[in-house]
Amino acid sequence: MDNEKLCSRRQALGSIGAGLAALAVTQAFAAPETGKETFVSAGLEDPRNKYPKPPFKEQLQPWPGLAGKMDPVPDHGEKSYKGSGRLAGRKALITGGDSGMGRAAAIAYAREGADVAINYLPAEEPDAQEVVALIKAAGRKAVAIPGDLREEAFCKKLVEEAVRQLGGLDILVNNAARQQTKASIMDISSEEFDATMKTNIYAPFWTIKAALPHLKPGSSIIATSSVQAYAPSGELYDYAQTKAATTNYVKSLAEQLAPKGIRVNGVAPGPIWTPLQVSGGATMEKLKKFGGDTPLERPGQPAELAGIYVQLAANDGSYATGQIYGASGGHGQP
Ligand code: NAD
Ligand code: MG
Repeated sequence: MDNEKLCSRRQALGSIGAGLAALAVTQAFAAPETGKETFVSAGLEDPRNKYPKPPFKEQLQPWPGLAGKMDPVPDHGEKSYKGSGRLAGRKALITGGDSGMGRAAAIAYAREGADVAINYLPAEEPDAQEVVALIKAAGRKAVAIPGDLREEAFCKKLVEEAVRQLGGLDILVNNAARQQTKASIMDISSEEFDATMKTNIYAPFWTIKAALPHLKPGSSIIATSSVQAYAPSGELYDYAQTKAATTNYVKSLAEQLAPKGIRVNGVAPGPIWTPLQVSGGATMEKLKKFGGDTPLERPGQPAELAGIYVQLAANDGSYATGQIYGASGGHGQP
């Protein structure tokens, strides 16, 4: 076989780390005489034209929106993510697991061998059912727990139910969020401000408190922050400050929980093609050009972040705590 088509396990894993092998048709061959594994090269994928670029069609969905109704439909790794047992036997709860980054994480976790519970709003049942089917197709247990995270009682119930149905919990991904674009602070009512704070700040607080008694050493808490924590947009006054708070709680809690052997990390996406953006998260003007102002000149797809959520939960990421891993097409991270 052509030497260029073969690469070592180390090289193959390196390219997975770079997020480029996620779509690969990598095949493993065992060489019994050496015990070494070799792989057919994944080939290079040009990040500039791997996914759709603006201009995008005008589209507006009622909040919270459905991935299945977006044009183009986002890529969450449904056809591409390949696992290698990195999370075998783990038990994960992902909020906002029906769509976007949460769905990408759910698919990847299941294909890495984890049982997965997802939370979402009742209006998102069609998206959630697709995720449940994908988790089951990976041979893992899927638990669907719809409900509104703005209620403290529900957050407690969510964790209890996930622990009961999964038989424990060792990965908690606080990923759900509310983002509604408003040109002026004057346009944000106290009720709307409160809804953003409840979803993005209170819900992780309530959920983590409920989960903590169940998390053993080696467990991971992962938050979805945002490029907005570092480079806030004028029209996201309320949302952006919740993402700064998210980045901050990751670092505080990592300090607090390290002595218990629990890691806390965050993911900071840039502009990613998800329902949040087409259901009030962005102005129509911004949506049509979405991601076009990044150096890669396109938005990211949820699938492009799946590997980060895996890495932050996996045993081999054990020295990472209090970290924020970004993926933003080249702009706006520290
Ligand atoms: P998304 O719409 O697919 O996911 C957000 C999810 O939040 C929804 O699916 C919904 O289930 C959940 N949610 C919202 N309010 C809720 C409530 N009250 N109760 C229960 N669930 C609720 O969009 P996404 O972009 O994948 O968002 C996931 C995370 O990524 C969010 O934290 C968001 O802030 C973050 N993020 C997104 C972008 C982007 O450009 N899309 C950029 C940076 C950060
Ligand atoms: Mg959704």
